[in-house]
Amino acid sequence: MSLAGIVNYIEKQVTILDKTLTVRTSDDNLFEKYFDVSELKNKWHEKKVGKYHFSQLLGCLRKYYWSFQLELKDTPEQMGIYLIGTILHRYIQENIEKHYGFSIIERPCVDECDDFDILGKVDVIDILEHIETDIKTTQWLPIFADLDESKFEEKYGKYILQVLAYAYFLNKTYFKIDPLQTLRIILVDKSNLAVKLIEFDFDEGIGEYFYLKIRERAKYLHDCLTLLQVCDQFHLDKNCKFCPVNDTIYCPEGAELVKSLTTPETPESLEFKQKYEVNGRKKKPFWKYDEDTKKWIKSKEFVKFLKEEKEYSDEQIEEVGW
Ligand code: SF4
Repeated sequence: MSLAGIVNYIEKQVTILDKTLTVRTSDDNLFEKYFDVSELKNKWHEKKVGKYHFSQLLGCLRKYYWSFQLELKDTPEQMGIYLIGTILHRYIQENIEKHYGFSIIERPCVDECDDFDILGKVDVIDILEHIETDIKTTQWLPIFADLDESKFEEKYGKYILQVLAYAYFLNKTYFKIDPLQTLRIILVDKSNLAVKLIEFDFDEGIGEYFYLKIRERAKYLHDCLTLLQVCDQFHLDKNCKFCPVNDTIYCPEGAELVKSLTTPETPESLEFKQKYEVNGRKKKPFWKYDEDTKKWIKSKEFVKFLKEEKEYSDEQIEEVGW
């Protein structure tokens, strides 16, 4: 079959520098034509009851639980995130290895607990300097000097917890004789390759505390999966919008949150939605969520709706405070 294969093209006339020509465009997602999906499947993240990934245990446990129960496959978006992450990880790891001396790179480690294993990977360990480095690819880098304590904790607390807990495990096992002393997180902005660092000293007491918490979570998950209990541990946040199980059967709380983030229940918005569903036009939300103030604010679209659909006068709109 040719590369173009069966593609639904739409023809368009375009004029460029006074010259007109016809182009064919396709709005189909051609992901499977141009990427080898079998290659992109992440073997490391394959699901098996009794084998839990350190990093996944830090996220929403209910989502992790359903990913086993429903045997959820990676979506193209997830494959894309893994692919970009892997490319950047490899590039940085190889560069560190080439230029900065003896290191351990991408080393899988297994924490054998009583009836399950916790799997993790070391990104980079500099054996001579006793430094463990974790690489995180991100969509945004902060100005650390301007970041207040709570925002810092919200954005990076989980990373620090993960690295410290993992270093605790390594220092009790693989690195018992020559323990890690310094922990480092490299943050790489995917859009422009800017790099920033977070560094801290290993603290055994805090490391143990975080490590035991993660083990508790793994045990709870394992019990739910093996004793067929529904997982009651969940973590609502704005990522619920992208969660594949945010519906009334698997996660009613998540579904509720997602609904409130996208369609606040007001008579106007429901009326608007119904009308445009019938007309097949795209729904425009009246409200938008302001991340800074953590409040819903009315969008210009809402005022337009009042004017054009409800025929409110400017005075009426002002009267109701919008
Ligand atoms: S919707 Fe949110 S709370 Fe529910 S399972 Fe998904 S991530 Fe967890």
